[in-house]
Amino acid sequence: MKVVRRNLFSSKTAFLGSLNNAAFIPQPSSIIPPARNLHSVTDDPTLLRILEGCKLPPNFRTANSVHGKFIKHGYGIFVKVGEFDVAKKIFLASSTRDVVTWNSTIGGCVKDGYFLEAIGLFKDMVKASIEPDKFTFASAIAACSRLGALNHGQWVHELMIEKKVQLNYILSSALIDMYSRCGRIEIAKSIFDTTLRNDVSIWNAMIKGLAMHGLVSDAVSAFSNMQIEKISPDPLTFISILTTCSHCGFVDQGRYYFDIMQKNFSIQPQLEHYGAMVDLFGRAGLLEEAYALIQEMPMEPDVVTWRALLSACKTYKNHELGEIAVGEIKNLESGDYILLSNMYCSVNKWDDAETVRHVMNKKGVRKCRGRSWVELHGSIHYFKAGDRSHPETEAIYRVLEALIHRARMEGYVCARDSVFMDISEEEKEENLNYHSEKLTLAYGILKSSPGTKILISKNLRTCTDCHSWMKIVSKVLNRIITVRDRMRFHSFEKGSCTCGDYW
Ligand code: ZN
Ligand code: ZN
Repeated sequence: MKVVRRNLFSSKTAFLGSLNNAAFIPQPSSIIPPARNLHSVTDDPTLLRILEGCKLPPNFRTANSVHGKFIKHGYGIFVKVGEFDVAKKIFLASSTRDVVTWNSTIGGCVKDGYFLEAIGLFKDMVKASIEPDKFTFASAIAACSRLGALNHGQWVHELMIEKKVQLNYILSSALIDMYSRCGRIEIAKSIFDTTLRNDVSIWNAMIKGLAMHGLVSDAVSAFSNMQIEKISPDPLTFISILTTCSHCGFVDQGRYYFDIMQKNFSIQPQLEHYGAMVDLFGRAGLLEEAYALIQEMPMEPDVVTWRALLSACKTYKNHELGEIAVGEIKNLESGDYILLSNMYCSVNKWDDAETVRHVMNKKGVRKCRGRSWVELHGSIHYFKAGDRSHPETEAIYRVLEALIHRARMEGYVCARDSVFMDISEEEKEENLNYHSEKLTLAYGILKSSPGTKILISKNLRTCTDCHSWMKIVSKVLNRIITVRDRMRFHSFEKGSCTCGDYW
C-alpha cells in the first residue's frame, strides 16, 4: 500500500497533548443524544432517568451517586449523561472498560456528530493501552474524515500499519473516504488500486470521493470498471453518479444513468435519486423540467427536493416557482428564509425581501452561521464570519487585509452582487471580506510555511466572492488552496479552480 509517510508529530505524546490544546473547539451546547448501544441499561428506566437529569455540571453530584450503577451497567450510557466532560470522567473512572465499551462510546460519538470528541477518546484509549480493533479504527477514521483532519487521519492509518491490521472492506472504504474528504484523492486512489475490491461499499467510497473532487470521467470509468469486476452497483452508487453529473452540469449523462438504473439494474429510484435529478435540472436552469419531475414523483417530495428547486429559482431569478417551492416546505429553516429573501433581492423586490426577513426575525429563526476550520500542527481552528475571538486576531486581520490588497492589484473585484441585502456598497464589501473561509485562510497563511498546501473545511456552500478571491490568492501566493464546502471540493491553483466555476 502506498501511504504518504512522514513524521507528523515529534512523538505520540505530543500529538495526544495537542488535541487537548485544540483552540476554539466549540463544546457541544446541546444535550448529547443517546448512543445506539443503550440496550444494556434501558432495562433500568430509573437509572436512565437519573442520568438524563445529569446534563449540567451542578448535577455532577447526582451523576457521581449513580457512578456505582454506571460501572455495574457498563458501557453505552456514556453520552446519555450529556455533559461531555462529566461523562468522560465517569467513563474513565469506570473499571469495566474494555474494547467493546470503548467501541460503543467512540462509535456513539461519531454517530451523533461529535467527531472531535471521538478522536479524543480514541487517543485516551491508545494511552490506556487498550488494543483498538477494526471497529475502533473504522470509527476513528470516520471521525477524521468528517472533520477533514488529514494529519489525525494519517496518524490513525499509520497506527493501523504499525499494528499490522488487515484491511477488510469496512476499513478500506473508510480509508478511501477519509483521504478523499481530506483532499488527498491521489492517496484514496492508490488505496483503492491496491485493495481487494470485493464489496460495493469500496466502489461507492471511491466514486463518491471522485465525485466530490469533480473528477467526472474518473467516476464514470470507475462505474464501468465495477461491472467488469462483476460488482453490481447499488442505490448509493447511483446517488454518487447522479450528484457528480449535477455538480458538473452533465444533464444528458444524468438522464442516462437515471434511466439505466431502472432498466439495466432494476433499481427503483428513491427520494434521493429524484432529489439529485431535480438538483441536476435546477442547476442547469431547466426549472420547468425540475418541477415536472417533482410532480411525477411516486412518493411525497421531501424538503431537500423542494430546497433544490428553491435554490435554482434563486439562481435563475424565477420567483413565481420559488414561491411554490417555499409553500411546500413545512417548518422553514433559516437557510430557506435567506434563499427566499435573496431571491426577491435578486429581482429588486426589496419590500418582499424585507417582509421575509421580518417574518424570520419575528419567529426568532436564527441564521445558520458560516463556519470554517483548518487543521494546523495537530489542532483544529474554527472561525465564524467576522470572528475576532482568536488570540491572534490582529495578525490574522493584517494578513487578510494584505491578501485582499494584493488580490485587488491582480484584478480581484469584490463580488458585491453575492450579498443581496439592501445595504450600502461599502457594507456589502465589509461583510464579504470577513467570511469565515477568508479568515481561516489568513490564519493558515500566517501559520504555515510558504508553498504548503492548505485544506479548509466549511459547513456551508462557499460564496461566489470567496471563490473568485481564493482563485487569485492561489496565483498570487503560488499555493494550492483546497476548500471543502458542504457540497464538494474546490482546489484552487494558479488562478483557477477544479470545479471549473460550476458548483
Ligand atoms: Zn464568502
Ligand atoms: Zn470551485
